[in-house]
Amino acid sequence: MNYRHIYHAGNFADVFKHAVLALVIEHLKLKDAPFRVIDTHAGIGLYDLASDEAQRTGEWREGIGRILAASLPSDVAAILAPYLDVVRNENGSGELVRYPGSPLIARRLMRPNDRLVVNEAHPEDVRRLAALFAKDRAAKVLALDGWTALKAVLPPTERRGIVLIDPPFEEPGEFRRLLDALGDVRRRFATGTVLIWYPIKDEAVTGSFLRKAAALSIPKLLSAELFVRTPQSAGGLSGNGLLILNPPFTLEERLAILLPYLVETLSQGSGAGSRLAWLTDERGLSRTKTPAGSH
Ligand code: SAM
Repeated sequence: MNYRHIYHAGNFADVFKHAVLALVIEHLKLKDAPFRVIDTHAGIGLYDLASDEAQRTGEWREGIGRILAASLPSDVAAILAPYLDVVRNENGSGELVRYPGSPLIARRLMRPNDRLVVNEAHPEDVRRLAALFAKDRAAKVLALDGWTALKAVLPPTERRGIVLIDPPFEEPGEFRRLLDALGDVRRRFATGTVLIWYPIKDEAVTGSFLRKAAALSIPKLLSAELFVRTPQSAGGLSGNGLLILNPPFTLEERLAILLPYLVETLSQGSGAGSRLAWLTDERGLSRTKTPAGSH
């Protein structure tokens, strides 16, 4: 396991993923019943943007750095508020030096009766994650393989919640594992929202992944993609997507507002764009033949 998220914390992909995670959690809070957030590939939870590693790539400057420096239109500001409030609160009145990862964003947005289960396989990272949530009775930290953890924690006793699956894609077969995981969650926790993150380097690979996901005949699968430049297999990450099972009914509309703004603000060159498309309808029928998009 070579991947370390500290090099990428707060980059454009984190902004996109974490903004959507926050929106889903806020939607769950509209009902009083408690929910659970499950994060299978959690990272360390809090990143020091002044560290050598984060400074070396500087990826956060082109992600959360740009967003915090921008003057947001009111509709975008409202959509990003839950996420940005957590980031700002983590930094107090000072400059941006601390960036919360998915476990901490979830924890900050949860209510007293909601629960968090975070899993991380890297021995050093899970130690830091456990230290972050030491004595926190609402958060449980596991040190398993993420795919094993997923099976172990489903279904949550609350029967409400979100599962974030955010692997590092350093091993071959991750797209295959994501499809298996999607089927697992659907079988064990049919009403849960699932957020799957994927990189877009080769459009043929991601296109095949999305067609296979649609062919599972699982109802209500939405895909949202953001490119900061033309996708390419060499070089740094240029695009990413979120595959969302059971999105809150308000999410599509919010993404339709948010995505063009993120394209404009986070663009790193020609080919920046976005796509938002239902892969399956409410009966599970595939809708992938005519993907909508602006890319
Ligand atoms: N979800 C985090 C966030 O948004 O803040 C970032 C997670 S990062 C993209 C992927 C994480 O998966 C890394 O911290 C890595 O150590 C961990 N990881 C790698 N292989 C794993 C495995 N088999 N099971 C669980 N975690 C793994």
